[in-house]
Amino acid sequence: NRRVVLASRPHGTPTLSNFRLEETAIPTPATGQVLLRVTYLSLDPYMRGRMSDGPSYVAPVAIDEVMGAGTVARVEASQHPDFKAGDLVLSQSGWQDYALSDGTGLTKLDPNMEKPSYALGVLGMPGFTAYVGLLDIGQPKAGETVVVAAATGAVGSVVGQIAKLKGCRVVGIAGGADKCRYAVEELGFDACIDHRSADFPQQLAKACAKGIDVYFENVGGPVFAAVLPLLNVAARVTVCGLIAQYNATDVGDGPDQLPLLMRAILTKRIKMQGLIIFDHYATRQSAFLSDMSTWLKEGKIKFREDIVTGLENAPQAFLGLLEGKNFGKVIVNVAG
Ligand code: NDP
Repeated sequence: NRRVVLASRPHGTPTLSNFRLEETAIPTPATGQVLLRVTYLSLDPYMRGRMSDGPSYVAPVAIDEVMGAGTVARVEASQHPDFKAGDLVLSQSGWQDYALSDGTGLTKLDPNMEKPSYALGVLGMPGFTAYVGLLDIGQPKAGETVVVAAATGAVGSVVGQIAKLKGCRVVGIAGGADKCRYAVEELGFDACIDHRSADFPQQLAKACAKGIDVYFENVGGPVFAAVLPLLNVAARVTVCGLIAQYNATDVGDGPDQLPLLMRAILTKRIKMQGLIIFDHYATRQSAFLSDMSTWLKEGKIKFREDIVTGLENAPQAFLGLLEGKNFGKVIVNVAG
């Protein structure tokens, strides 16, 4: 049984030395427990926050503890009345081959599901985040301009496609020509601007000739600085993620942009709302699953995965995710 533990806390950008791969015995389930074999492991940006011990909405991973993660797993052995060997489940088993569970938080999946890894992506937490963040907070109306950052990623790609289904003009922001081309040609966005171009703010302004009505924030930093002056009166901003800031060690010493932001919020009557997806499962998950399954079946939503093979490659893949080296939802195939 291999597992990846947090060896030390990063200061700034994490490195491979913050992780350690260990071998332990495969555990044996006691009465009331199941033994799970992890097949797919989800890598997500929030894990960077859990490597630090600052205050947050979730507890940090302890040093020497297994890195936490959403996983798809097979029940290998069961001493639990509700599960039998062979069941496919969604679990929080973390970065490891095997895990014990008492059944708490396990969700059974259809064992014949065509793509079980979708339970960690378009039909799972990132897809649900896109759905709630866009529809409930962004409230897009047909004809409006929706801008989404990290536009080809797990969340952003779904945001933009739902906005197109709702009749909006969609402008993505992504890193590099390949990702931008994919957003337009494959995902059907109206435009996609490379945030690494020297004239990115000008290009964005040109692509949003009528301003921005809904902005789905995944990034923060210079990307938000380019978006802010383009926001229309009564714009809605969903603050979902700030990945450009996750490795920051201080607030930086550039000019203070806060007065600019406050003035824009006031004069343009902008609504900005933070989103933590855990809050919405009880009320919105069933509507999401029903809509998203239909859209997938009808071919209206496409979803790209960036699959990495082997648990031992999870740390490197995670570091890549924080730098935009991924192209699509990052999934580690542990034993798929
Ligand atoms: P992605 O698959 O989109 O991968 C992250 C992407 O972020 C990278 O591929 C890269 O895309 C972009 N990125 C990284 N660093 C920078 C940077 N410095 N400047 C600009 N872009 C950068 O990840 P997810 O879809 O899983 O997550 C997207 C966001 O949503 C994250 O901020 C995450 O924390 C947040 N999130 C929030 C949730 C909530 O409940 N609030 C739930 C789920 C996700 P590119 O190459 O295009 O720049």
